[in-house]
Amino acid sequence: MAIEPAYEVIVVGGSYAGLSAALQLARARRRVLVIDGGIRRNRFAPTSHGFLGQDGRAPGDIVADGRAQLLAYPNVHWHDGEVQDALRDSEGFIVSCGDGFRASGARLILATGVRDELPAVDGLAERWGRSVFHCPYCHGYELHEGRIGVIAVGALSMHHALMLPDWGRVTFFVNGSFEPDDAQRAALTARGVSLEGRGIACVSEVATVVLADGSRCVLDGLFVASRLRMASALAEWLGCDFDEGPLGRTIRTDATKRTTVRGVLACGDAARMAGSIALAVGDGTMAGVSAHQSLMFGW
Ligand SMILES: Cc1cc2nc3c(=O)[nH]c(=O)nc-3n(C[C@H](O)[C@H](O)[C@H](O)COP(=O)(O)OP(=O)(O)OC[C@H]3O[C@@H](n4cnc5c(N)ncnc54)[C@H](O)[C@@H]3O)c2cc1C
Repeated sequence: MAIEPAYEVIVVGGSYAGLSAALQLARARRRVLVIDGGIRRNRFAPTSHGFLGQDGRAPGDIVADGRAQLLAYPNVHWHDGEVQDALRDSEGFIVSCGDGFRASGARLILATGVRDELPAVDGLAERWGRSVFHCPYCHGYELHEGRIGVIAVGALSMHHALMLPDWGRVTFFVNGSFEPDDAQRAALTARGVSLEGRGIACVSEVATVVLADGSRCVLDGLFVASRLRMASALAEWLGCDFDEGPLGRTIRTDATKRTTVRGVLACGDAARMAGSIALAVGDGTMAGVSAHQSLMFGW
């Protein structure tokens, strides 16, 4: 005889996307379990920007408020831990955590996020989220139109270099990652960007770039494109398809956040290129609604 799943939906990842998904299900009076490892992508940044109504707040405070409001619903359960395995059974999925916790659910929502891999430049990682950033919309304004550096990781960094003059005076450090052609040089000049061809030795102080020949370029902030890796291998284990992007891959979903594997949905940074808190919350809402409707109307 089939065993009824303990939960109707299990949400893996209890940050912006996962909390938002779980909230819709909680309000539909469904039995929901959230399992969270507590390692948010923006944990390095003291403040978060661009999320309506929460601009300038500490990112952890936004999550803490969301969690407290979610846990006020008696049909929601929470487990602090990391899902290390997920199996499909006849009724849905069984997930297992490293601490021995196991649970079953009819639907699985992956809100597991991504992690950032920075180029190998000494001094970058320690400043990530404080004076080294990837997103101008999140952290550009607070540089007060000051001195901004962009460290290239390849030709795709032209995008960063051409955007950032809206936030300050930009120096573009090619750092041997590619050779701008004439058209690219002209585009940089037209936007008032200074091109720096010498290699980088390290980053020091707030955001000072020390060049290989020892000269120093004092800046107020730096931008660099990180390589994105899935924070969890769950989607891969479950057999989900992925989309390849210039900075890494994301879990493929349709507009309702269903993945290519029946019963599995995905939302937040794990399932979109160039994410933000607002987008994660929006995608999480869609995933929660979509999971709920699939329980009634089928997949
Ligand atoms: C330095 C920095 C600063 C940023 N600043 C801003 C900003 O100012 N404004 C803005 O809008 N965006 C900002 N972002 C982007 C923002 O952090 C992300 O868009 C947002 O965190 C995505 O939310 P998410 O819920 O998809 O993933 P995350 O917030 O990364 O959360 C994923 C959650 O899933 C959990 N998890 C992963 N795998 C498992 C598993 N196997 N089992 C259990 N739990 C698991 C993790 O522990 C984590 O708690 C910033 C990013 C960085 C790197």
